[in-house]
Amino acid sequence: MLLSVEGLTIEAGGSRPILREVSLSVGQGEIVGLVGESGSGKSTIARSVLRLLPQHARVSGRVLVEGDDVLTMDPGALRNLRASRVSMIYQDPRSSLNPVRRIGDFLTERMVHTLGRSKAEARARALELLTAVGMREPELRLRQYPHELSGGMLQRVVIAAALAADPALLLADEATSALDVTTQAETLALLRKVQSERGLGMLFITHDLHLAAAFCDRVHVLYAGTVVESRPAKELFDDPRHPYTAGLLACTPDLADPRPIQPIPGRPPSLDDVFDGCPFAPRCPHAADVCLTGRPEPVTVAGGSAACHLVEV
Ligand code: SF4
Repeated sequence: MLLSVEGLTIEAGGSRPILREVSLSVGQGEIVGLVGESGSGKSTIARSVLRLLPQHARVSGRVLVEGDDVLTMDPGALRNLRASRVSMIYQDPRSSLNPVRRIGDFLTERMVHTLGRSKAEARARALELLTAVGMREPELRLRQYPHELSGGMLQRVVIAAALAADPALLLADEATSALDVTTQAETLALLRKVQSERGLGMLFITHDLHLAAAFCDRVHVLYAGTVVESRPAKELFDDPRHPYTAGLLACTPDLADPRPIQPIPGRPPSLDDVFDGCPFAPRCPHAADVCLTGRPEPVTVAGGSAACHLVEV
């Protein structure tokens, strides 16, 4: 397995853990979605794969990349992991780029300093990567500054940089959320193309369950730092088994479904909210007495699992 997260729990000073007993996996050539509202812990999972966690965080469980535990790696192995085995693409491409450095500097400096390429090799590779991500006039792009490129073009540059070391695993953290809808579609098509051409595994993080269901092979739905449903994308979309998953689908606009949007009542939990029972109980339309006292464990449902006391198996 390319990525295997096993029982990951992270505490960082709040009243409850940021993540609690999270387990998931990503195989080679597989796109796995991670969906949840803000504060659900999905970005923390991505950062844990690169061990980019707060220094004071208390961490238990394992995060295995091709069998190597990231949480216990020595500094040299961790540098190698971050430089060449796993790449992250963030939401806002402008935050990844230095506004006073040229695109060419951004693409080549990392290859020279961390991958040991010569300047000429790095430049040739940068041109090759810009062409691979569909940038026209790649020579010109190398000479330009970030402010001269649109958001969609900058995200292509960031994707090119993420591919520079031929990583096995891509972490896409809301990689298309800041883009307009046309550019988002182009970027998703590009991510799909590079992923399938190179057989990459991808952890695709988004707040948009419709998008995850359309783009991913499997989806994990996260709530209050816990995975509440894990299913193949089609099954999850057609027949959600956890009330939170059903709520997310019902509150997202869908042109094919004329029913009115139904927001999930209440607010997402903060790190100061503690729960004796199901974390979703204060917002769940089906909550019963058992939900207030006992935390639901995942049970097997068609194609995966759902953590709900009332789920029908
Ligand atoms: Fe709702 Fe109870 Fe299921 Fe939680 S365990 S999702 S409160 S029905």
